[in-house]
Amino acid sequence: MATLSLKNIYKTYPGGVAAVQDFSLAVEDREFIIFVGPSGCGKSTTLRMIAGLEDATDGEITIDGVCVNRMAPKDRDIAMVFQNYALYPHMTVYDNMAFGLKLRGYSKKAIEQKVLEAAEILEIKPLLKRKPKALSGGQRQRVAMGRAIVREPKVFLMDEPLSNLDAKLRVQMRAEIAKLHQRLKATMIYVTHDQVEAMTLGTRIVVMKDGVIQQVGTPRELYQHP
Ligand code: ADP
Ligand code: ADP
Repeated sequence: MATLSLKNIYKTYPGGVAAVQDFSLAVEDREFIIFVGPSGCGKSTTLRMIAGLEDATDGEITIDGVCVNRMAPKDRDIAMVFQNYALYPHMTVYDNMAFGLKLRGYSKKAIEQKVLEAAEILEIKPLLKRKPKALSGGQRQRVAMGRAIVREPKVFLMDEPLSNLDAKLRVQMRAEIAKLHQRLKATMIYVTHDQVEAMTLGTRIVVMKDGVIQQVGTPRELYQHP
């Protein structure tokens, strides 16, 4: 259960790039929000501010009504899945999935239970002892998602998670993500360049350009021309 609100968010990088300007959006519980727009329009920067990997220059971000602007990433109850998977290469799949839980002080037993449960959901149990380099692209992406879901966060942020996969795998993983969204009852924000992904996964689509929101609407509102 999570609502997320962004109020008049700005991000100016050192050097003066205005990456995001006056971005406001109220996300309801269990929504699946899609960010689309050309490269450099501020999609990743916005996700990174929500995750706390980047400070907002101005504005307020709240989760379930609580301001998180000053909250450390690990305390935000948010998980982020990156395009390049961002797995730790020297760790096994198990340890990759366990890492965020260890960081938060979970017991060994609780960690094992959560990792096995997530591995079951994502059908990666046979891979737990492998290192990332011994996995296919699709398997790596499952592990990256596994690492995100073990913590049962309130909010999932996904930055083009499928863009490195081939077309067939993309279709398969798209269906997996839709299932995960249902099963986890999660609130999602998802960046993609793929119009089919946007239309099939999104409850609402946010179109950005030059750091500004141009349009917000349901897939039907944005893509159907009567
Ligand atoms: P998108 O995800 O839509 O491709 P980004 O959020 O990555 O866009 O980038 C938005 C703008 O901010 C771009 O002009 C980009 O060059 C700039 N930018 C992104 N990250 C940094 C950074 N760490 N330092 C300076 N400028 C950045
Ligand atoms: P978790 O799954 O708990 O978020 P991670 O393994 O992803 O754990 O990250 C461990 C720590 O590193 C966290 O505090 C997270 O905020 C930080 N971190 C993860 N990815 C990045 C990144 N791309 N840039 C900066 N910090 C990051």
